[in-house]
Amino acid sequence: MPFLSGISTLIFPQKCLLCAAHKEHISIETGRCKSCSEISQFSVKSTRRGGIEIFTGTHYSPQMARLILAAKESDQKFARRFLAQSILASLKFAIANHTQPKNNERKIILIPIPSRSGANRLRGYAHILKLIDEISILNTHHKLQQINCLAHKKRIKDQSSLNFYEREQNMKEAFGVISEGIEQIIAIDSKEEFAPLIFLVDDLVTSGATVLAANIALNRAGIRVSGVLSSCATNRFTH
Ligand SMILES: [Zn+2]
Repeated sequence: MPFLSGISTLIFPQKCLLCAAHKEHISIETGRCKSCSEISQFSVKSTRRGGIEIFTGTHYSPQMARLILAAKESDQKFARRFLAQSILASLKFAIANHTQPKNNERKIILIPIPSRSGANRLRGYAHILKLIDEISILNTHHKLQQINCLAHKKRIKDQSSLNFYEREQNMKEAFGVISEGIEQIIAIDSKEEFAPLIFLVDDLVTSGATVLAANIALNRAGIRVSGVLSSCATNRFTH
């Protein structure tokens, strides 16, 4: 009975709007599964890892971890949009927290933290670049510009099974800069009336080893970063 089954799909959505999961009960009101309904949306805060400030848009939770995986590994559009909204909320918060004048008129430069090229090859896309595209589409307030100026300069391992110390070693000297990107930033800086605010962008911050390594590479090239924008950050590194 295709007609009736069509109606039941309308009344009872079979897939979660955010993570596209089939199995769990999907709320008719929100279109979300039970797990995604538990995500508390957009509570911005800042935290520190080493010398760098991390601005986050949502609390970290197992449900958020699941959502990040859906965006990253399964290319879920709505999950990615949720992360992008969360990062935009963190940007708004970061700008409000900067004491420098004329923040509204300053150009915002977003520098993506690249994934391992092996991971991108397996997925067939670069999650972080799609995420920044989505941020640009949703953005209405800020003068945003994405500049890709980081590249991996050594082979790094998948970090998921590594402890804190191993992650630090894994990420040590992991990044180099792309000179065209650095030149672009310097050109903007000299052209604009007010110095641009520069942020690193990552979907999730855990130990901070990755963002710290990226920050070191940029500092060496003379680039001062105002902080990291992320959808969320784990409270403490747990294993
Ligand atoms: Zn879901």
